[in-house]
Amino acid sequence: MGVCPLARRPLRDNFTGLLRPWARPEVLTCTSWGAPIIWDGTFDPDVAQQKAAQQNLTIGLTVFAVGRYLEKYLERFLETAERHFMVGQRVVYYVFTERPAAVPRVPLGPGRRLRVERVAREPRWQDVSMGRMRTLHEALGGRLGREARFVFCMDVDQHFSGAFGPEALAESVAQLHAWHYHWPRRLLPFERDARSAAALAPGEGDFYYHAALFGGSVAALRALTAHCAQGLRQDRARGLEARWHDESHLNKFFWLHKPAKVLSPEFCWSPDIGRRAEIRRPRLLWAPKEYALVRA
Ligand code: UDP
Ligand code: MN
Repeated sequence: MGVCPLARRPLRDNFTGLLRPWARPEVLTCTSWGAPIIWDGTFDPDVAQQKAAQQNLTIGLTVFAVGRYLEKYLERFLETAERHFMVGQRVVYYVFTERPAAVPRVPLGPGRRLRVERVAREPRWQDVSMGRMRTLHEALGGRLGREARFVFCMDVDQHFSGAFGPEALAESVAQLHAWHYHWPRRLLPFERDARSAAALAPGEGDFYYHAALFGGSVAALRALTAHCAQGLRQDRARGLEARWHDESHLNKFFWLHKPAKVLSPEFCWSPDIGRRAEIRRPRLLWAPKEYALVRA
């Protein structure tokens, strides 16, 4: 049976059935609080598809494409999502942009649709990135929250390269950061300035999670986005900005409220890292960081 060696209980969930942690003995397949860490080979994608289809879910995927990020990344993100993201399920994309008319018309499969929401363009890229938490919070309290049962929130500067299915669904989902998953805990780049709402004290922090991908139920994401937006607001009022912006606040949230599921770095991988034996089949690949082009 698939037993979590740390929590000493079976590793199972509503979407993957029983997991097979023994299929990946070389990696950590569950957290100290008993949440599965999903690696290729530990789940059966067909079982996950069937279980999700039985529940007749609508799954939301939100993405922001503001300024030059729209022309540079959005089309490939959406095209590859059509090929790989939750194929066979009902999907609703929410694209947030200041230029709705410029959103590319990507052909969508049956049961899939795209909605465009207008957002203001902030002058600093950090403010666009951080502003996502408040905007998402409002959207989750509105039509997005009524339409979708589960939602994934993603960066646009990446594309899908492999099947990303219902095995990733859970009440709350965090992504292990590709550059940091093998680092010693004390070196992880958490916010350490105790004045910041995002601060973690020495010894705190389980994993370093990547803000380019998080997800969960609408209720869980309402709580997550409220927490992060509030922390960002509080820091700003004190003249502070956490080291990694919204990502620092996301990491604080997941320290206080442990994710129900953790995705291995295979789900959001950076090709710049090079080959790693444990990374079998990446599902999302980061685009090269062409900051001079998109942030100028
Ligand atoms: N973003 C955007 N326009 C901007 C800055 C950010 O649309 O001017 C959105 C976009 O979805 C991007 C995300 O915010 O992927 C996070 O920013 P970025 O990817 O540059 O941050 P990084 O991944 O490098 O930390
Ligand atoms: Mn990014």
